[in-house]
Amino acid sequence: MKLNQRGLLVVISGPSGVGKGTVRRALFNMPNHDLVYSVSMTTRPVREGEIEGVDYYFVDKETFLRRIQENKFLEWAEFVGHYYGTPRDKVDEQLDLGKEVVLEIEVEGALQVRKQMKEAVFIFLVPPGKLALYDRLKNRGTESMNMINKRMRKAEGEFLLAHKYDYIVVNDEVNNAADRIMAIIRAEHARTERTIHNYIKMIGE
Ligand code: 5GP
Repeated sequence: MKLNQRGLLVVISGPSGVGKGTVRRALFNMPNHDLVYSVSMTTRPVREGEIEGVDYYFVDKETFLRRIQENKFLEWAEFVGHYYGTPRDKVDEQLDLGKEVVLEIEVEGALQVRKQMKEAVFIFLVPPGKLALYDRLKNRGTESMNMINKRMRKAEGEFLLAHKYDYIVVNDEVNNAADRIMAIIRAEHARTERTIHNYIKMIGE
């Protein structure tokens, strides 16, 4: 029996290059989960191998700015020269269906969600060391040196905001990090304040 009806919003955040995408994919490959990924919208160019509607919805700046005006984003941020945002309607729809909705977003956007959705769970993913972050950005091979340096400078500021999160997970190894996140999600479900109302209702029936 599922006592709590509305799904859980899980925000995975952390500096660029920490491996959020890889950990998220490992999380979704785990058996027996009820997770749904919220596909973001972005104005950044498509990278090789990325698929429209799976990795992102790729749009031009004009479309993105219009959607901001129309209040279509739960959160949005400008990140090293491009816009990124979470479409609001899809998130609400899935939460209403009782799904766990996973956002994989940068820090500024995560803190916007925090202000609006107190009941969401906020996880900050960190690398085992600063050098690991640099190596990962470099080895990914998707960014120019200029862009890697920009992302590294941005990461330094992002680290300072880790204390605003509910959990800090070290990405020392992808599957370990995914396991820890799954453990957090399961534990969050058992939180008294999430379930007590339904439990009292059940006893009354
Ligand atoms: P990338 O260009 O590497 O795909 O993403 C750059 C950064 O933007 C990453 O930290 C990624 O997690 C973040 N990001 C992706 N989608 C969103 C979104 O919808 N909102 C916000 N605020 N950040 C996002």
